[in-house]
Amino acid sequence: MRVTFHGAARQVTGTAHLLEIGRSRILLDCGLFDSNRLDPESPNRQFAFEPRDVDAVIVSHAHNDHIGRLPCLVRAGYRGPIYCTRATGDITSVMLRDSARIQREDLRNALLRHPHGVEPIEPLFELADVEWVVELLRRTPYAEPQEILPGIVLTYFDAGHILGSAIIQLDFEEDGRRRRFVFTGDLGRRNMGLLPDPTIIKGIDILVSESTYGNRELDPYDRLIKQLHAIVARATRLQSKIVIPAFSLGRTQRMIYCLQELFTTHKVRPIPVYVDSPLALRLTDIHRDYPQAYTPAARRLMDRDPMYFGSKYVEFCTTWDDSRRLNYLPGPMVIIASSGMCEAGRIRHHLKHVVEDPENAVVIVSYQAEGTLGRQLAEGAERVQILDQWHDLNAAVYVLDGFSGHADRNDLAWWFEQTGGGIAHGFLVHGEPESLEALSPVLQQHVLNPVQIPERLASHEV
Ligand SMILES: [Zn+2]
Repeated sequence: MRVTFHGAARQVTGTAHLLEIGRSRILLDCGLFDSNRLDPESPNRQFAFEPRDVDAVIVSHAHNDHIGRLPCLVRAGYRGPIYCTRATGDITSVMLRDSARIQREDLRNALLRHPHGVEPIEPLFELADVEWVVELLRRTPYAEPQEILPGIVLTYFDAGHILGSAIIQLDFEEDGRRRRFVFTGDLGRRNMGLLPDPTIIKGIDILVSESTYGNRELDPYDRLIKQLHAIVARATRLQSKIVIPAFSLGRTQRMIYCLQELFTTHKVRPIPVYVDSPLALRLTDIHRDYPQAYTPAARRLMDRDPMYFGSKYVEFCTTWDDSRRLNYLPGPMVIIASSGMCEAGRIRHHLKHVVEDPENAVVIVSYQAEGTLGRQLAEGAERVQILDQWHDLNAAVYVLDGFSGHADRNDLAWWFEQTGGGIAHGFLVHGEPESLEALSPVLQQHVLNPVQIPERLASHEV
């Protein structure tokens, strides 16, 4: 077989790995690169393979850096099946429709800024392309082997990263020998309360693994909960506000769950929690449809409330008026809003209102890319620019990035160990260079041939 890395090679976005097994061509994920969507030179605008020649697409989970280019693939002529888990199918539909809407708005704003048009700009894709993708989705249960192409059997296993996330296993025969190819997708952390640990896979011949936090050790869950407890207690004492920038998919639901756990299991005095993101509300509705996806402990906790992720302390803001009202309400309260890196969306309005008061708090719960407002907050800048105005950053800033959905170095080492070793070929993707370099010797202990850190478009016969 041959594997070619079309994205997430020595970086964390744009996942797309093309497999050639006999005559079959299979694409694993089709994610967006982190780049301006209107940029005509963006890597999102071209494929280095012919989409019409691909026989099947297999999706690991519904984050945009894994599914965001599926509509481009369809726009370029792909009409085959797109395999995904059931929850991933539901989430993909919502995420891609939202992405098409944002592009339409971005385009309109760009044209308003340049009424005479500098040069014609095309959106990456439109709603019609998204509807094609939705038509092609083939929802597949976990742990049920399915022959997707002649002699190639797909099995999905829970990756514990976000709802619906999966490790992809492909079994096939090549030159008379049985072979097992495994792609981790994004692996979750162990013992994180809400979602189960990533499933262990054994008997792997070829492994492609993520490496996001290959060089980091993140705080364990009980320490994170204690820190969150202290932050909530401070807000109660000072009658102040806590603002949490969070991605609408995954992190928002995790933070709702953690606060629910604090208020019930840990008997912390409850304060109101406002979730200000219409997209998060739609995604949370999908999370309510899959109670079996959560750990037994999480289900016991959430069974006490009339609906999952909807305790009596949580309120979702749907309109702009709901959102604006929060500026005039007194603390204590928690406001969870997107975007996760503070680059767009309603979070910036809330930050504008809270950052100058030292009694307020901003809690960073995810990775913040360089150059983003979230990164400036996390690094404790003295002043920050929000919506074209400068503000003194006096609010307390807490960085609790252990709430991340990604396995850290210890979790990855544990998962590699559990495979039982004897892996013939190992590849590391989805990481910055320092994470990849740090993780390589950890994986090497279980791999017979030298572990590879492929460049973009590198192709390997294995
Ligand atoms: Zn992910």
